[in-house]
Amino acid sequence: MTTLAQRSVDRDQAYPPRISEFTRPFWQALRDGRWTTTGCKKCQTLAFPPKSVCPHCWSTDVEWREWSHRGTLYSWTRIHAAPSSFAEETPYCVGIVDLDDGLRIACRLVDDHQPIEPGRRVEMLVLQHRDGPMFAARVLHPQDLQGDKHVSV
Ligand SMILES: [Zn+2]
Repeated sequence: MTTLAQRSVDRDQAYPPRISEFTRPFWQALRDGRWTTTGCKKCQTLAFPPKSVCPHCWSTDVEWREWSHRGTLYSWTRIHAAPSSFAEETPYCVGIVDLDDGLRIACRLVDDHQPIEPGRRVEMLVLQHRDGPMFAARVLHPQDLQGDKHVSV
């Protein structure tokens, strides 16, 4: 079991997630530094965001699983002209990450050092806002990559 790195953010989230009865375990786990999503017990497919029905085989026999917290940066952008909710946070970066378990997600990218080349290894972390957690990714540096199965160092 991996515990995600965590950072305190001294403000509420600009656009907090809608938390349903179904997704509450995801947010509770994230608050504790655990990276989870739903996996289908019938066909083993993972889904993200978490889903109560498998999008591959339509089975409702799904369970919570820990999954890859590392991946590869597919693309990213730096946002200067943001929606009003996020205006105070500009400039900020968002990335598209291919996690090692095969799913592609979009999230905030922190520690944005210019330039960031697509293909860099990244890992998920938790931004602990005053009102709740949010996931984000950070670019890994050579010293972070010891033992990374996708990189030889
Ligand atoms: Zn399935």
